[in-house]
Amino acid sequence: MKSPAEMKTIQIEVTNACHKSCSNCTRFCGEHPKPFFMDVDTFKKAVDSMEGFDGIVGVMGGEPTLHPQFSELVDYYESKVEDPRPKAFIGDPTPTFKEYGRMVKYERGRKRGLWSALGTNYYKHFEQIQDVFAHQVVNDHHSVSTHQAILVTRKELGIPDDEWVKLRDNCWVQNLWSASITPKGAFFCEIAGALDMLFNGPGGWPIEPGWWKRKPSEFGDQLKWCEMCSCALKVPANNANDDTDIVSPKMLEKLKEVNGPKIRNDKFVILDTNNFDHSKCEGHERDQKWYLPKDWGDEARIAADNTINNPRKLDVMVRSGESNKSTLTRDQVENLNFKDWVAVFRDGSTVNAEFLESIPKCVLNPGCFYTFKDQVWLFNRRAKAIRKLTNINLDQHLSQLWEKKKRIELKSYPNIARQTMGQKISLRMKYLKHRSAFLVPEFLLKKHNRGNSGPSPSTGTLAGSAGSL
Ligand code: SF4
Ligand code: SF4
Repeated sequence: MKSPAEMKTIQIEVTNACHKSCSNCTRFCGEHPKPFFMDVDTFKKAVDSMEGFDGIVGVMGGEPTLHPQFSELVDYYESKVEDPRPKAFIGDPTPTFKEYGRMVKYERGRKRGLWSALGTNYYKHFEQIQDVFAHQVVNDHHSVSTHQAILVTRKELGIPDDEWVKLRDNCWVQNLWSASITPKGAFFCEIAGALDMLFNGPGGWPIEPGWWKRKPSEFGDQLKWCEMCSCALKVPANNANDDTDIVSPKMLEKLKEVNGPKIRNDKFVILDTNNFDHSKCEGHERDQKWYLPKDWGDEARIAADNTINNPRKLDVMVRSGESNKSTLTRDQVENLNFKDWVAVFRDGSTVNAEFLESIPKCVLNPGCFYTFKDQVWLFNRRAKAIRKLTNINLDQHLSQLWEKKKRIELKSYPNIARQTMGQKISLRMKYLKHRSAFLVPEFLLKKHNRGNSGPSPSTGTLAGSAGSL
């Protein structure tokens, strides 16, 4: 096992609500009768407690963007979690979110990180997310992927104590993934934290500065959660999109007491533990990509046809004159009486059908003000620049409301979703520049003391073993 201090990431679990209900979810989404939402004060305490930690302080769920105060949480997080590396700004339109996603994902070495399954609220918070998080781990779970069973006990599989202690201390999840903070405290392992939430456990360690410096020998009673978890074992896996948990008979009894939607709707299969030989099960590879199709790797994280972040609605207005394409009056636009994107054309003759058709087919940053030679302005009601305003003036000063970096001159017009070879190359160069932050040696940024040591024994004993399972 690893001390959280040696981990690359420690997660702050802001909710276990999720728009998905994948099989064998590590947060047991679908097993909870009611999701939790971490309150703002606990979140602030959690962020403050991470002072001095050199890895990523992750914001995670469930789907974290479902938190009703997500924006407020991220404002605080941004003020406290500094990112030592420069962050490139991404504003240019791209034909797909997959392409957009390439620009913002996996900036390891960052301090800020967001884990998201790209629910609809990701779109709502798109601008803020792009402003704050360079390191994003996204997975829309549209691809065929597999999740290993989690809710199976080693005792039901007949694994003796001495063998179990070794397996547990080598648990690949705890060694590769993260410790976590839930509303009920801090945990040495994110799955242990999720189990504590699911089964109304006693809670974790107090959320106080330096909690994460504990060593495996100090994990104590928290290790009891391992007794209810099969992550360290070779157990079957199933298609994540089946929404069906694999459970052992004893865990099923416990889940029935919780009585979440998956239990009520028979979304489970029972592992016949009496006839299951774990030593003959292939299990999952000890690999971070274990749940994605092998030959796809990270490409499987965002479906090519994912349109969750494409413009939802486009209204049109002509600054002077008339057009049968107008859907809003000048008064409506000036009073910000529209919901998503609005395109304001200089006069009736410039309303361009190809432009209007192309916008819904691409990904734009809702925080940006797009323009093409002053012929057309394109902006989103959610943009931070105008979110709190009640009206605007449609004059030549309008774009000044947006930060300079968020004023984007469209290079291709009228079809902004189509990219020329030159634009593709330019985008790729930006992407490389963006990623080149990796090339800056770590010691030039900040002294890191994270180790890469292998697993350490917790206690070498059954410390904290749960009695009943
Ligand atoms: S998307 Fe992630 S958090 Fe949501 S149910 Fe699936 S595995 Fe769980
Ligand atoms: S067995 Fe489960 S609870 Fe224990 S360390 Fe591994 S993942 Fe965490």
